[in-house]
Amino acid sequence: MPNLFIAPCVLALFGASGDLALRKLIPALYRLESARLLHADTRILALAREEGMDAEAHFALIETRLQEHLASEEWAPDVWERFRGRLAFLSFDFSQADAYRTLSDLAAGDLPLVAYFATPASVYGAICQHLVDAGLGDRTRVVLEKPIGHDLESSRLINDAVACCFPESRIYRIDHYLGKETVQNLIALRFANSLFETQWNQNHISHVEITVAEKVGIEGRWGYFDQAGQLRDMVQNHLLQLLCLIAMDPPSDLVADSIRDEKVKVLKALEPISSEQLAARVVRGQYSAGYSNGKAVPGYLEEAKANRASTTETFVALRVDIRNWRWAGVPFYLRTGKRMPQKLSQIIVHFKEPPHYLFAPEQRPLLSNRLIIRLQPDEGITLHVMTKDQGLGKGMRLRTVPLLLNFSETFHTERVPDAYERLLLEVMQGNQNLFVRRDEVEHAWKWCDQLSAGWEQLGDAPRAYPAGSWGPGAAVALIARDGRSWYDDL
Ligand code: NDP
Repeated sequence: MPNLFIAPCVLALFGASGDLALRKLIPALYRLESARLLHADTRILALAREEGMDAEAHFALIETRLQEHLASEEWAPDVWERFRGRLAFLSFDFSQADAYRTLSDLAAGDLPLVAYFATPASVYGAICQHLVDAGLGDRTRVVLEKPIGHDLESSRLINDAVACCFPESRIYRIDHYLGKETVQNLIALRFANSLFETQWNQNHISHVEITVAEKVGIEGRWGYFDQAGQLRDMVQNHLLQLLCLIAMDPPSDLVADSIRDEKVKVLKALEPISSEQLAARVVRGQYSAGYSNGKAVPGYLEEAKANRASTTETFVALRVDIRNWRWAGVPFYLRTGKRMPQKLSQIIVHFKEPPHYLFAPEQRPLLSNRLIIRLQPDEGITLHVMTKDQGLGKGMRLRTVPLLLNFSETFHTERVPDAYERLLLEVMQGNQNLFVRRDEVEHAWKWCDQLSAGWEQLGDAPRAYPAGSWGPGAAVALIARDGRSWYDDL
């Protein structure tokens, strides 16, 4: 049965033979097909620059890569047949104006055209102009991948080029973290539970930790990554978005712009970090040789195609302060790196100790509630509460007990949907809630640019940390200076 709730569209996937398209977007579309969440009339146009490759060869490539990326139980020949029936393929260079006439023929009809740019950001503007020139402008929504530029100035140029062709209401900027189930749940957790919202301020919260750790190294993307570094690749977007969702005031409703307005207020309130404060507030690291999964792995500078003199950071830890009434005096410690001991994304809200302490002094370090919001792996939420240890003869001994909400167990879901599945559905529906507005991107760049400029001014080189560790020792010192430690050190 066709799904009547999901609107039909023509999805034009630019860069259909690239890494993102083959590893994430096409598997996400296949899973939507499998769940019957694509409208019967939806068509998918795979657009790629692949000389000598025809549609059959491209579909064969898609089939092979799907089988690689899907779990074996997800692959079903009948789903593939349905999915393949929606696909069309066109090979052209996206700067080639006349090819857009063929694209226009392929996309004929009056369904909305969702133009997903899985390409370098440098070509976004040109594709937009060609879409408009081909007469497709009025029915098109454009989806832009991150990062948009490498600093404020370059992001403005890209955003200006896109804005010349499309209004903001038809521009969908992806930060795939916003599509994750747990990130969505943050809104429910904060604003549907008065228990938390009344405590959500500097009176009750001592500090917040946000960790986004990757176990992998550079995975063959050295050239791309070395131009960016961890600050631009992860902090400017994913970590600041998570910070905004934790720190923002309640929006008046769930309309996209109401939420985005609140996020922008947080970004505007981020305390600048001057070059004098840089050493105390920010740590840059670069992984050296070490171990991952018990195997020896090379350092960043020894990876294939590496420039041995690179000073690009693969790790950043920083203390961020927010200058507003709610968060005055509550540091947010952010940490993100490659070649960490585990793949982990989590937010930990540490509550303050009770104002008057009644128990044995040696138990005091245990005594604060923590709310752990786990994005991956094992998406879920845990609240650490203090209880009396059970049994006779133990006196009033305290024990931390986790109250655990594990999504897959609680909701009996076999699989938590991938962020891209949700984001693709939202853009098909024309819903902008989970996408980033231009001013958010630009405020985030402005704040990050001062850090890059400070590093450049000071000639600050990253500190080495062995692959398989939680980053340089200086990251431990960063939080220890405030009398705290990262949660994994507790
Ligand atoms: P890739 O280089 O693997 O893919 C980009 C694709 O775009 C390539 O197939 C490339 O073709 C094609 N392309 C580029 N310019 C043109 C052109 N003028 N005409 C036709 N085709 C063109 O990059 P990724 O897939 O890794 O990344 C795509 C986008 O997604 C980037 O903006 C990236 O920042 C973003 N992103 C990627 C993530 C990932 O995990 N890969 C994660 C988050 C964001 P050709 O090979 O011929 O150059």
